[in-house]
Amino acid sequence: MELDLGPEANKFRQEIRTWIADNAPEGLADLTDWNASSFGSIDESFDNALQSPQYAEWSDRLLKAGMICASWPKEYGGQDWDAIQNTIFAEEAFRAGVPTVNRGFGESMVGPSVMVNGSQEQKDHFLPRIISGQDVYCQGFSEPDHGSDLASVSTRGIIDGDEIVITGQKVWTSGYFRANMIFILVRTDTDAPKHRGISYVLLPFTAENGVDKRPLRMISGAAEFGHEYFDGSRAPIFNIIGGINNGWKVAMTTLGHERSGSATIASLRYEKQFWSLVDLARKHGRDKDPVVRQQLAWAYSHVQVIRYQGLRILAQIAAGKEPGPEASATKLFWSDYEQRLGEIAVGIEGAEALIRAESTGPHEREPGDYIPNFWQNIFLFSRAHTIYSGTNEIQRNIISERVLGMPKEPSAARG
Ligand SMILES: Cc1cc2nc3c(=O)[nH]c(=O)nc-3n(C[C@H](O)[C@H](O)[C@H](O)COP(=O)(O)OP(=O)(O)OC[C@H]3O[C@@H](n4cnc5c(N)ncnc54)[C@H](O)[C@@H]3O)c2cc1C
Repeated sequence: MELDLGPEANKFRQEIRTWIADNAPEGLADLTDWNASSFGSIDESFDNALQSPQYAEWSDRLLKAGMICASWPKEYGGQDWDAIQNTIFAEEAFRAGVPTVNRGFGESMVGPSVMVNGSQEQKDHFLPRIISGQDVYCQGFSEPDHGSDLASVSTRGIIDGDEIVITGQKVWTSGYFRANMIFILVRTDTDAPKHRGISYVLLPFTAENGVDKRPLRMISGAAEFGHEYFDGSRAPIFNIIGGINNGWKVAMTTLGHERSGSATIASLRYEKQFWSLVDLARKHGRDKDPVVRQQLAWAYSHVQVIRYQGLRILAQIAAGKEPGPEASATKLFWSDYEQRLGEIAVGIEGAEALIRAESTGPHEREPGDYIPNFWQNIFLFSRAHTIYSGTNEIQRNIISERVLGMPKEPSAARG
């Protein structure tokens, strides 16, 4: 998909295209399929490519050119890129087969939350460390008994002089193994109504700081997320964003950014995936099978709907409106779509889908494990899509209450 977004955007596209051609290190595009999803880690080539000198050089060039966290305002180290410029950059990187380098949770969630809710000193301290890659964050919201009902978090934070001391457990923490910082919700007042006794803390996420990190293995064999025990972990009060007991508001800023996410460029990946599915059907001699053809037509039409959903969000942002609860409809649509896509693909693979290759053991797997192929991974990992970033049931609640204006769900949990 290449959008015609008018002369200004087209000029920007040409500049970016030339910049990528001039600056992408030789061989970078061939190291791995950067355009495939890295979710659930399909094979080791992606991890190896991330460790390569070409990737390090590329990151360095992007950093020097201000193309990391480029959507952040200039005053915070970004380029003030708007949604259209971001989309163009992502499309051009996709087209060239090179990765965009982003700072994960730090870029998409912590940074915006600090910009909106932090003091000037906090912005000056935390934001440059995200851009440079010095601080890599993971998200510590969910607990064993509190996922959707986030306001019930029970991990304790006790103020001790000029520090906060944290004790408790978090779970399902994506990318825990690469993070040295965690943005964590803790209960700092047990007597206040539950939304009002929570603080949002940027906590050093290290064993030296009393954090015991353990992997959680997924059905795909990967351990991309973990659970952690905090035993007297400390952070300066300076690291509490938005003030003590005011964390709920900050968390809502964070989640708003999580859900609006990358809806505008998702269709590029889905389109590519669709054509791989067509190749798979050909490879297995199933492309003339009327049932398979019907499934392929179903998949293609869904990819087009995802594309138009992305364009709608893009148009909305271009018109100066923040993505609202409609983003829930988009998330609901693609998460259900990818689950069905995985089922179609393993159906086409047939008995072959039951066999997995033996792993040589990258960081998240044990040597001797069996790793899924591309389609097995889509099939297995897509189970998670209807759970993270708000489950499908929660998305439906948002749509019914905030888009359709239906009565609010009666809930003791509202507190
Ligand atoms: C791949 C993956 C990555 C994740 N990464 C992170 C991370 O990095 N950091 C983090 O903090 N968390 C993370 N999570 C956790 C995720 O946010 C939670 O799993 C999610 O919020 C659901 O919470 P829960 O698992 O406790 O389920 P529950 O909230 O217990 O829900 C159980 C079931 O009840 C339904 N339900 C709950 N409340 C309602 C309601 N009000 N109305 C209707 N139905 C309801 C749910 O839809 C679900 O089907 C991740 C999860 C996955 C799968």
